[in-house]
Amino acid sequence: MKQTFYLLLLLLLGVSVSAQNSVYDLVIIGGRVIDPETKLDAIRNIGIKGNKIVIITKETIKGKQTIDAKSMVVAPGFIDLHAHGRTNKEQEYQVHDGLTTSLELEWGVDNLKEWYATREHKALINFGASVNWPFERFRAMKKYQAAAEELKKITIAGNSDLVVSNNAMAPSFLDTLTEDERIQMDQNIKSSLKDGGIGIGAPIGYLKFTRPVEFFHVFQLAVQQKTLVYSHVRDPNVYAVQEAISNAALTGASLHIVHINSMSLGNIQFAINLVEAARKRGLDITTELYPYTAASTSLQSAIFTDGWQERLGMTYQDIQLVSTGERLTKESFEKYRKEGGLAIMHMMKPEWIRAGIAAPGVMIASDGMGYAPLAHPRTAGTFSRVLAKYVREEKVIDLMTALEKMTLLPAKRLETIAPSMKKKGRLQVGMDADITIFNPETVQDNASFEKGLSFSTGVEYVVVNGVLLLNKGAIVENIYPGVRIR
Ligand SMILES: [Zn+2]
Repeated sequence: MKQTFYLLLLLLLGVSVSAQNSVYDLVIIGGRVIDPETKLDAIRNIGIKGNKIVIITKETIKGKQTIDAKSMVVAPGFIDLHAHGRTNKEQEYQVHDGLTTSLELEWGVDNLKEWYATREHKALINFGASVNWPFERFRAMKKYQAAAEELKKITIAGNSDLVVSNNAMAPSFLDTLTEDERIQMDQNIKSSLKDGGIGIGAPIGYLKFTRPVEFFHVFQLAVQQKTLVYSHVRDPNVYAVQEAISNAALTGASLHIVHINSMSLGNIQFAINLVEAARKRGLDITTELYPYTAASTSLQSAIFTDGWQERLGMTYQDIQLVSTGERLTKESFEKYRKEGGLAIMHMMKPEWIRAGIAAPGVMIASDGMGYAPLAHPRTAGTFSRVLAKYVREEKVIDLMTALEKMTLLPAKRLETIAPSMKKKGRLQVGMDADITIFNPETVQDNASFEKGLSFSTGVEYVVVNGVLLLNKGAIVENIYPGVRIR
């Protein structure tokens, strides 16, 4: 009996000694570890082996590489469901802002298979995109087939972005599909889902003259394909939010409404209440916002068709041209709408944004644009801005809640259709080692409407799939740990 006891004791000691001696690939020591799922908020050490978190402990641990996280917050890597940048140029800004996963789900990506091929083993952080409904619709129409082939060449060359694809496809947005074309479009969507599309991007606001029956059909198809619809709704008002919710309710589709702030403007609280009421009814409907009072889009898009002043509640002076920073007049607006260009639209009030930030369950997503020196600051600063302005300065939400909106909620939104997300958005043993470490006292967005893009500061370390990508605030050169979200 006594011998057995000593044997057990030795075994136990042996186990604990071996745990202390075992060398992890990477250890993060002494940080304030926050996990929004288990609500852990305590000083812990984290050990990583390969791409996984293998231990979270109060005990001393050693690794081949050590990060001293004293006085810093150690959080799950931030996940952005809505970013239009398709290259590492934008991902550099995102890493400094704490992102470990950046997805283009609102608009989706045309020629998904070819685009994924351009990104494999080349991405800084995890990447993925939805099926682009406007594109699948466009290439289903015979008269646009040559134009669709052109767009494919641009994608393969790595030069496609939101504005390029919107402009190429825009003529088709005024056409109605024939029955044959609709059948072809369905085939296209199904095949792009098989190519790795994470849901269907249905930005009907850019195809606002599309008949309701076509938009409704997207939801029916999503149900049939067991996938998710993301929508920039038809117009910036609550009726359009109701149309999208109604389609989801009547078909049973899962729906994510993008940037509820610019979709509902002064009615943001009512729009959020609608989403909340839908959820109480058991519907799978979610939403997000970006923490800025201005929107941004292409001047040639349908957003600026006649009547925009009334729809958006703004005038020429509220439009800022991204290429030059100038505010527009009637004359310059007409000129640039013909020539093309990206606009920033100053059209929201600070209290609307605060209401969205404060609302439970509403996620943070950047809607970041393709790189341009004067691109909308959300491209570079969204996540740090929430931590600096809305957590630290204005105390609209606490840190745990903010991190939940940036990590766990977006991961959970996708995990039924992209199972790899079950291992993300959490700091727990067995989860992917996507980790963001920042100083809560100094984290700061630095991009602005006046000065343009600038890296956020205060995010000191970012680990992607177990690989240290941001070290003491600087990107480690020539490593590409980002993988495709499946
Ligand atoms: Zn949008």
